[in-house]
Amino acid sequence: MSLTNQDLVDLVAFRRQLHQAPEISNEEYETANAVEVFLAQTGPDEILTGFGGPGLAAIYDSGQPGPTILLRAELDALPIAEISDLPHRSAIPGKGHMCGHDGHMAILAAVGRQLGRQRPARGRVVLMFQPAEETGDGAAGVTADPRYADIAPDFAFSLHNLPGSPLGHVRLKEGVVNCASRGMRIALTGKTAHSSMPETGASPMLAVSQLMPALTGLSRAGFDSDNFRLATVTHAEMGEAVFGVAPGRAEVWVTLRTRLDERMDALVATAEKLARDTASANALGCEIDYHEVFVASLNEAEAVAHLRDALDAEGVAHDEAELPMRASEDFGRFGHGAKSAMFFLGSGENHPQLHNPDYDFPDDLIPIGARIFMRTVRNLLG
Ligand SMILES: [Zn+2]
Ligand SMILES: [Zn+2]
Repeated sequence: MSLTNQDLVDLVAFRRQLHQAPEISNEEYETANAVEVFLAQTGPDEILTGFGGPGLAAIYDSGQPGPTILLRAELDALPIAEISDLPHRSAIPGKGHMCGHDGHMAILAAVGRQLGRQRPARGRVVLMFQPAEETGDGAAGVTADPRYADIAPDFAFSLHNLPGSPLGHVRLKEGVVNCASRGMRIALTGKTAHSSMPETGASPMLAVSQLMPALTGLSRAGFDSDNFRLATVTHAEMGEAVFGVAPGRAEVWVTLRTRLDERMDALVATAEKLARDTASANALGCEIDYHEVFVASLNEAEAVAHLRDALDAEGVAHDEAELPMRASEDFGRFGHGAKSAMFFLGSGENHPQLHNPDYDFPDDLIPIGARIFMRTVRNLLG
């Protein structure tokens, strides 16, 4: 049931191979291909490619009735240049695996190796490698793929590594673990004018200067409650960089964040009304669109209990500290229709933070993550 020394050598090499060739969201075709090549050697019953874009699913079927367990990893890297002297540092300028998704893939590859040698006694396991986690649309694409209805998992599990937490220590909690969030882009249109006669145009200047603090003011402190909401203005631009023209257009970008999806709906409605009222009071057109829409991630009680059992059986220390997180994670989509839970695996207290340019996934986590997943699978499926 366990990984051999040769497995560990192969898995670390595989992780570093992925690390050297990072691809950003929705461009992960070579990465998916590398995963396919590795998993094909483990003898899955089926590999489904082009899943919700570049995604890939490998199925290990017992041939007996029973639950379907989906384990999720992410394919994407980030548009961040890696600062490192490591031999396996990114070979692609301006791109890097700075969130550790290379490590998450290696952990699922380790599970594939073991399932290839010994299928579960009943049910089946689906290893899902989804694209575009960082932009929030990968899980949505995968679950919308018509083939996902055939997979229809009973349980879905995932992990994310967590810098700042002791190496190999797990954080796990029922309920909300990651916030809902979305980027709201507000485009204001007026009319340019000669800067000597601004009264002949319609400048968005006043509206922008009113909107930024007003949007920020929609925030409500108290992250420990479901009433938590946060509006962070991330970007604004207006007119052109010239002195002769009064501006005729502007954009304000704001990221909205709540703990629950229904609270997000309310915050969106309030922010939209604020933007439209401000625009019309200033005789401006207003267009609003949304980007990077993440639903909240909720850990279901039974799924959490199965993970806890596996952690205890494997002697992995765990607690509920630091949860929920303000950050978002698109794994929440897999919880619509499956009992789902995600846990956070410590990457070391002094490890560089996620998305830092000197981040690198700790290889020591590969066997730990694989043990937790394998024990969960064996407990549920035998
Ligand atoms: Zn990330
Ligand atoms: Zn990540």
